[in-house]
Amino acid sequence: MNEKILEIENLTVSFDGFKALNQLNFSMNAGELRVIIGPNGAGKTTFLDVITGKVQPTEGRVLFEGRNLQRMPEHKIARLGIGRKFQTPRVFLNLTVRENLDLAGNRNKNVFSTLFNRSSSTENRNVAGLLETIGLEAKANLKAALLSHGEKQRLEIGMLVAQSPNLLLVDEPVAGLTDEETENVGNLLLALSKDHSIIVIEHDMEFVRQIARQVTVLHQGSVLCEGSMDEVQNDPRVIEVYLGR
Ligand code: ADP
Repeated sequence: MNEKILEIENLTVSFDGFKALNQLNFSMNAGELRVIIGPNGAGKTTFLDVITGKVQPTEGRVLFEGRNLQRMPEHKIARLGIGRKFQTPRVFLNLTVRENLDLAGNRNKNVFSTLFNRSSSTENRNVAGLLETIGLEAKANLKAALLSHGEKQRLEIGMLVAQSPNLLLVDEPVAGLTDEETENVGNLLLALSKDHSIIVIEHDMEFVRQIARQVTVLHQGSVLCEGSMDEVQNDPRVIEVYLGR
């Protein structure tokens, strides 16, 4: 049986009468890696904003693991296990890669005790595993400021995972990356998708093709179509929206 991690029903978000999301329906099974695409202004960011509680819906509801998130504040939703990565990396530049991961994994503990006290062996093992997963073992003791843009993106994804979320929301993780860095981030997301549910918003179609099994296309605040990359790319409605034909 496939358990639903996210069910969104008739979601509408109005800004001064303008519907950024319009009766949107969406559902996703636990363990899925879902990519959301759509032209600028389609509502992708607003979609993530509603899931994380940053924006409240005008109508409709969001169920996360069967629980209605309505009127729940952002910090409470985060504690339920929804982690979000924004487009620009938010890492602590003056801390080392390892310290960034330590801090992220101990968000609810005191910062100083995290940095200056010895961590437990379980915490050390977790961080070692994460360093390997994000491919930054050799740079564990370097300040994050010295990382490339792609490495910072991978570090931030690692920081998100350190918080043990059940659902990862990842916003345009490869914008501005080289081809090699893009592929590294793609491989990381594919590796993480083995034991995480992930939603990625992305514009880079090569990248979408690399990682996507299931793609959802948003347009004018609603789901235009869903399917494999081949299915959506050949869908006349998608061609019309993207190419105006
Ligand atoms: P996308 O991420 O797909 O580019 P957005 O979710 O950012 O789309 O925006 C969807 C639409 O809603 C856009 O037309 C945008 O201008 C509008 N919008 C988003 N946020 C606000 C806001 N806070 N106030 C007014 N309009 C907004």
